[in-house]
Amino acid sequence: MTLDLLAIAAHPDDVELTCGGTLLKSAAQGYKTGILDLTAGEMGTRGTPEIRAKESAHAAKILKVGWRGTLGVPDSDVQPSRQHKLALAKIIRQLRPRTVILPYWEARHPDHYHASTLGYEGCFLAGLKQLPLEGEPFRPFKILYCTSFEGMPPTFIVDITKQYETRRRAILAYRSQFRPAKSERKHRVFLAIDELDARMDLLARHAGSLIGVKYGEPFLQKELLQIDDVVALPVRSI
Ligand SMILES: [Zn+2]
Repeated sequence: MTLDLLAIAAHPDDVELTCGGTLLKSAAQGYKTGILDLTAGEMGTRGTPEIRAKESAHAAKILKVGWRGTLGVPDSDVQPSRQHKLALAKIIRQLRPRTVILPYWEARHPDHYHASTLGYEGCFLAGLKQLPLEGEPFRPFKILYCTSFEGMPPTFIVDITKQYETRRRAILAYRSQFRPAKSERKHRVFLAIDELDARMDLLARHAGSLIGVKYGEPFLQKELLQIDDVVALPVRSI
């Protein structure tokens, strides 16, 4: 299988929360999309790996992705190690995505910023001919970084107004995380995920407001944007 767009993140549900709307929109545009979860999220306070696997498969269906896989990196120990980079490079050679979405390279959770480095370096290694790895050398053309949680100025914002409700369903497919049983809710550990649905709404509305639409998802790319038609540029100035 060859993909047009592959989103890579540390834990199941990270992709839904940061770029699920963009994956949905890309699928509707006819692109083949996929998700690679680096870990199975086995360190999460709620749910078991089996429950989370079912939830992530359900969420993938809602997001209409053609492929979803797990790299098998231990949760809470995502590192850009040689072993993990080679495993990732092998998958990149199999899926040959033109565009890859990664988490932003600074974050509170170490798994998130390590996922960014591991993702970038795995994509880089995939293109090295001399690498002792099966598959044809391949490197994605474009790498984008999700900045939803980070608050820095993005390079561009994708209008996900039409996709927002479906993205929300994909996020809430993680019932063990977002709709825990009452007995689990009494847990005294503070879990920010209880507030996440409301926060996601706020963040998507804020990103949308920056381009004059209801909901948006922000991205950053290290390169400058090339524009060929200045007359057709969207987003009103005055
Ligand atoms: Zn995460």
